Amino acid sequence: MVWLFDYDLTLYGTEERYVINSLDHRISMFVQKTVGGDFESAHKIRTDYLERFGTTLAGLMAMNGTDPDDFFDFIHEPEFLTYPKKAPEKLALLQSLEGPRFVFTNGRHDWSEAGMAHMGIAPAIDGVFDLKLLDWIGKPHDSAYEKMEAWLTQKLPAMGLAMPADPREIVLLEDSLRNLEPAHRRGWTTVLVNPDVEAPDWVDFRIPHLMNLPELDLVGKA
Ligand SMILES: [Mg+2]
Repeated sequence: MVWLFDYDLTLYGTEERYVINSLDHRISMFVQKTVGGDFESAHKIRTDYLERFGTTLAGLMAMNGTDPDDFFDFIHEPEFLTYPKKAPEKLALLQSLEGPRFVFTNGRHDWSEAGMAHMGIAPAIDGVFDLKLLDWIGKPHDSAYEKMEAWLTQKLPAMGLAMPADPREIVLLEDSLRNLEPAHRRGWTTVLVNPDVEAPDWVDFRIPHLMNLPELDLVGKA
């Protein structure tokens, strides 16, 4: 198996939602700084961009000409952010999975890398495929999943591993149903990690929390 993990609300769960809330607050501040007006109207613009463009950043790039690195430099200022807590049990779980493990995230790599360093799980992760490597067009756009496959085609042989012939050998774990759908269309195995959302029939597995992963019968299959 090739394991792909979303970062936010997947590698750390809803019980640590304050982590993404701290980032969300910075995103709203960036929107306010860019479009002007008060914090509340900036928050509304943000919600609108999120709906129309998939991410706030995509909206800012399309409507305001935002440079994505400027956006991430601002929102990832560590002094304003909160990170997930140390999680040795997650390190052990991830290290027990057979096959390479990567993060597949709509954030810039420094955010998930800092979070994984706080959790102490970085040694279990073989690489981060981030929004920058996706040319700033993230999940759920089909191009993101195509680029992920192309990246794996390069990355796995460099690690002495073969690209799986069967797309079901690529497992994507995600808290977002919308981001799982294109993976399902490509034939990847989909795992919804979310305690609050019901899984439709096409989802292969649903678990409330990352730590429930060993309950699935796909674990242990090399
Ligand atoms: Mg997520």
